[in-house]
Amino acid sequence: MIYLDYQATTPLAPEVAAAMRSWNEEKFANPHSPSKWGSEAAAAIEVARKQVGQAIGLEGGSVAFTGSATEAINWAIKGAIEKAAPGRNRIVTVATEHAAVLDTCEWLEKRGVEVTYLPVKNDGLLDLEELKAALDKRVALVAVMLVNNEIGVIQPVAEVARLAHEVGAVMLCDSVQALGRVEIPQGPDLVAVSAHKIHGPKGVGTLWMRKGAEPAPLIHGGGQEQGLRSGTLSPALCVGFGAAAKLASEKMAPDKAHIEMLWSAALAALGDGWSINGSVDQRYRGNLNIRRESIDAVRLIGEMRDIAFSLGSACASGSGRPSHVLRAIGLSDREARSSIRLGFGRYTTEEELVGAIRRINEAAEAQERFAA
Ligand code: PLP
Repeated sequence: MIYLDYQATTPLAPEVAAAMRSWNEEKFANPHSPSKWGSEAAAAIEVARKQVGQAIGLEGGSVAFTGSATEAINWAIKGAIEKAAPGRNRIVTVATEHAAVLDTCEWLEKRGVEVTYLPVKNDGLLDLEELKAALDKRVALVAVMLVNNEIGVIQPVAEVARLAHEVGAVMLCDSVQALGRVEIPQGPDLVAVSAHKIHGPKGVGTLWMRKGAEPAPLIHGGGQEQGLRSGTLSPALCVGFGAAAKLASEKMAPDKAHIEMLWSAALAALGDGWSINGSVDQRYRGNLNIRRESIDAVRLIGEMRDIAFSLGSACASGSGRPSHVLRAIGLSDREARSSIRLGFGRYTTEEELVGAIRRINEAAEAQERFAA
């Protein structure tokens, strides 16, 4: 199989598997118990916390482990609203956010919170003037992602944070697709990330919280994670996340060079007939979301079961609905249904990528001949 779905998830790094092994196979202590073994597990979690914090790279805050980035985002949004001063009952976000943000906002909307979903330009980028116009002193939270999971575009998060702070709002940045790939700019108060997008294990995420901006708890119980997020932590998952984060920091420059090489090779192999969805310049280039007039992307994916790639997004792929992101950048349903996403990264070889693209091209041309 050729794996070209790096936005959906990434292969576990061998270094991460090795770091997790003894915590999976031998050591089983509860990291919150005071025994010698418990203390050893707690110490390993603290090392991991530091490694994840260093990879996020922001000053003046702390890292809380969660079960996923989805949980971190739910916590950040619901907890920020609960903690907001009286009269602050608005959220400003963007139409192209991940479902974890949009669905949480929708849930709150049904409970009386006012939510503004800002549109994006045709290149997928937010218009800062529109953001400015949407902000006022009633806004509790501004939620804008750094790298889009479907089209890879990079939002101006530092500016967004500055504007949010001008009206006294907290800024949440979903940095799931950015960690280890694009530097997270200073500014956000809350940052959500996930281990499995950086060659770590599934089932563990993090909410980075600026001191003073910690959201009210979402999950109540034993008071683990600074009294803010209850539940026994998994040493294996936390250690795996830490190892993946350390590796991501160390490999950021070589990974970026590798991605640039793959991007150029992919464009050369694609040739004419394809258009790129979303900004080419303000983009993480391990995401190639492309469309070709009159092809049926679902059929294309079905015809190539040994190449893993996606429709606009992994979530949209399952639902049969055209992606909300592709619609937000102005594509018709037809164009959205003619779009595919190729995601590549650290372990993708040029040979694999070019070979897969040649086959995708052949299949697309065959569809065109059939339709003609
Ligand atoms: N945000 C973005 C941008 C994502 O791509 C994803 C995963 O697809 C998530 C949030 C949710 O992450 P997790 O799988 O850890 O819940």
